[in-house]
Amino acid sequence: MRRPVARSLAVLAAGAAVVSVGAAAPPTPHERPAPHTPKVPVAVGHGGAVSSVDADASAAGIEILKKGGNAVDAAVATAAALGVTEPYSAGIGGGGYFVYYDARSRTVHTLDGRETAPLTADSGLFLENGAPIPFAEAVSSGLAVGTPGTPATWQRALATWGERGLGTVLKPAERLARDGFTVDETFRAQTAANETRFRHFPDTAELFLPGGELPVVGSTFKNPDLARTYRELRREGVDALYRGDIGRDVVTTVNKPPVDPDSGWNARPGELSARDLAGYRTKSQPPTRTSYRGLDVYSMAPSSSGGTTVGEALNILERTDLSEASDVRYLHRFIEASRIAFADRGRWVGDPAFEDVPTRELLSQRFADSRACLIEDDAVLSSPLAPGDPRDPRPCASGGEAAPTTYEGDSTTHLTTADRWGNVVSYTLTIEQTGGSGITVPGRGFLLNNELTDFSFAPANPAVHDPNLPGPGKRPRSSMSPTIVLDRYDRPVVALGSPGGSTIITTVLGTLTGFLDRGLPLVDAIAAPRASQRNTARTDLEPGLYDSGLRQDLEAVGHSFRENPEIGAATAVQRLPGGAWLAAAETVRRGGGSAMVVRPAR
Ligand code: GLU
Repeated sequence: MRRPVARSLAVLAAGAAVVSVGAAAPPTPHERPAPHTPKVPVAVGHGGAVSSVDADASAAGIEILKKGGNAVDAAVATAAALGVTEPYSAGIGGGGYFVYYDARSRTVHTLDGRETAPLTADSGLFLENGAPIPFAEAVSSGLAVGTPGTPATWQRALATWGERGLGTVLKPAERLARDGFTVDETFRAQTAANETRFRHFPDTAELFLPGGELPVVGSTFKNPDLARTYRELRREGVDALYRGDIGRDVVTTVNKPPVDPDSGWNARPGELSARDLAGYRTKSQPPTRTSYRGLDVYSMAPSSSGGTTVGEALNILERTDLSEASDVRYLHRFIEASRIAFADRGRWVGDPAFEDVPTRELLSQRFADSRACLIEDDAVLSSPLAPGDPRDPRPCASGGEAAPTTYEGDSTTHLTTADRWGNVVSYTLTIEQTGGSGITVPGRGFLLNNELTDFSFAPANPAVHDPNLPGPGKRPRSSMSPTIVLDRYDRPVVALGSPGGSTIITTVLGTLTGFLDRGLPLVDAIAAPRASQRNTARTDLEPGLYDSGLRQDLEAVGHSFRENPEIGAATAVQRLPGGAWLAAAETVRRGGGSAMVVRPAR
């Protein structure tokens, strides 16, 4: 159960704006200015809630809630709007993981809408002459494009749990694409970071570099092609993509990337086919469940490593009273638990349709205890740490060879919704890198993902079986961790998630412990400076920690650090007594997020 604690990391959040419940953040010069959709990081009230990184997207979800839609309808409406305003993070060219709490049955359900490799793929997908293709070359290629799972996720979520259809819930996003949104600093900066490779693909340059220039902050950005695509999906359903003319365009684009011949860019083709699209299915599967201090933490099972890795780390941490620990002890334990959980994830987690993944055993308290016993108070474990064997847990044993954590992108977006009936959605979706493959489907207004670069190109360690090598129709391992926490009556306590590649796991873990153990209000748990350890020699620290005295205290124990300017962009929703909701988002990161409720409390 949640305990109020005096001592907390709040003091460390000094660099971030700590906002009290119900208050609006002071306006920043680069706020997206639409007057009817102010961007605030906390909102409290009734009738339902939406939290996303973007005010127009949160407003789309609220619009659907006001029209009688439920949390699922609002989640799809918000996601579709993010496809307009955050086109480099998410859209119908990508995939994601959808977690749903059903208030009537008090149960949690998930959809795995991860992209799949083409049916022709094998473990050598990213090898040329036996050697891995340079990562950056693979990213901007047809080879990296997986079969999109996002449209199928929307369709299935609405059909199974929604109150409305695609025809209704895509309307706000279609309008936003047609009428435009106001360019902010983040959108311009993300475009600038991609400018060179966007110019290799004329359709991408035409769309995202209007008039050949970076979009100007404060100008209106329209995407009429995407408006038309959304209208087609509204009218014809997602078959337009999986079996129809949008799909044909996707296949043509992947098979022969429309690259500028003068650019000199070798845009390797991919083999995605009409058969891949027609055969794509989302997977409905049980969530992972971890009990933590009397609560139940539900998240995504493999093909994402989110649920097992957050869950194992929580199980390890549960043996320490984090509410009473000093800041140094708390962070030391947090870092070591993350290190261990990542060592085990690297060895054991991949697509369960292809790999024998010990999901249940990874989440057993017995396994966590056998691993927790490695942690010492006055020393630091060295990375890469070897994995344990969850099928045969031996106290303090690490078995075999370590598998280092491979690179994952840092784009993606997370949204959280709740409705007046008490249903909740936690949904993370992505096109992998910021800007995905950089390849726009001509005339359709959306970017294709590069999700297949989440596979290992070659075994991370040739001496160990790597569960994350490519295969035909296989899903690359993800870190996405859309999470919903229930109390002992199976009522929601909090739901949350974040982007950030493999740092997603530590962001969700840190936000959970900040909120559940350290007594931080939800928005402060999100704003608190982040640490991220993923079985590497050095731990990433955001400046708020890197520049604090705590770093020296931890270095004295043996930790070593590198500064990371910004980790993650979380959004969350908390259930309050009496059917009220608190929506929370970032105060500062990525220009701040957008929390909204249907009827704000006075
Ligand atoms: N592709 C990554 C994953 O599935 C997410 C990328 C990101 O968060 O930026 O874990």
